[in-house]
Amino acid sequence: MKVTEYFKKAEGNTLISFEVLPPLKGGSMKSIFDALDPLMEFKPPFIDVTYHREDFIYRKKSTGYYEKAAIRKRPGTIGICASIMHRYGVDAVPHLICGGFTKEDTENALIDLNFLNIQNVLALRGDARKIEGQFIAEEGGNDYAIDLVTQIAEMNKGKYLDDDIETGEKTDFCIGIAGYPEKHFEAPNLEFDLKWLKAKVDAGAHYIVTQMFFDNSKYFKFVKDCRAAGIDVPIVPGLKPITKKHQLTTLPRIFHLDLPSDLVKEVENATTPKAKEQVGIEWCIQQSKELKEGGAPCLHYYTMGDSKTFRKIVEAVY
Ligand code: FAD
Repeated sequence: MKVTEYFKKAEGNTLISFEVLPPLKGGSMKSIFDALDPLMEFKPPFIDVTYHREDFIYRKKSTGYYEKAAIRKRPGTIGICASIMHRYGVDAVPHLICGGFTKEDTENALIDLNFLNIQNVLALRGDARKIEGQFIAEEGGNDYAIDLVTQIAEMNKGKYLDDDIETGEKTDFCIGIAGYPEKHFEAPNLEFDLKWLKAKVDAGAHYIVTQMFFDNSKYFKFVKDCRAAGIDVPIVPGLKPITKKHQLTTLPRIFHLDLPSDLVKEVENATTPKAKEQVGIEWCIQQSKELKEGGAPCLHYYTMGDSKTFRKIVEAVY
């Protein structure tokens, strides 16, 4: 079933969804099942699986020179989605990115998804490779998420890249996209970012999942700004608790977000790692409760495989 159909069926109740990432290459599905088994009693209608582009690494050769090698550390997104659907009977939402894909690769991946009866896709641009500093699309690939959304929307109309296909099967993907309550870090300002967010929706996206945030007023303002800009699709807040002190600096650096002073103070003042974790969990519980009361269609938890923490949060909220 489509993610947006779940929202409609929920009739205003706030759903819950989890996001997992594929294991490092060489790992097994067991790690995914171990992470999800303890969370399934909360009945998430869908589970997202992230996509990880290859990155370059430098290997030192016996001559002393370095060779550049492309490595994908976390392959397997589509297979994991199929496995999740098979084991739990819930929908899985693969993330699909522009980076590393030609348009033909994208089309082939979408054909696989369609044949597997995976009806939902989160369409993203992806980040820059670490050594490149800025996002560089594959030659013949999509430059921005809007181009990927457009390609999926075209397939939903039965239009494939090959012009000779005149009556191709119409796929029926429900398309999710990313939104940034604190603005995407490359956008010069929020208005610019909202303009392209609206363009993604106009191109065929059906719902938005936000980057994590720790101050709910930013989400509520973002929703208001989106509505004022004519964006009328569901906007799902993405949530993750702080569980370790180092995240006070790593999360802002990686995800380009602000942490509220009260949260920072409370984490710093807590005297043990366990107490710091408890502060982060409590904060996330309070955020979740307020977002639920504020009418969020779904709470989307970035679990990163940490089922123990998320059980505590969800048990307190639902
Ligand atoms: P876009 O919508 O393409 O926007 C990128 C930037 O370009 C923005 O600043 C925007 O304002 C601007 N822009 C957009 N369109 C245009 C245009 N046509 N012309 C000029 N400027 C434009 N990354 C992964 O690699 N794998 C994942 O699984 C993954 N999952 C994610 C899930 C969520 C919910 C979120 C919020 C992010 C996720 N990301 C993931 C990270 C994401 O790929 C990065 O944030 C990336 O930098 C931007 O992706 P986007 O889809 O928002 O890009």
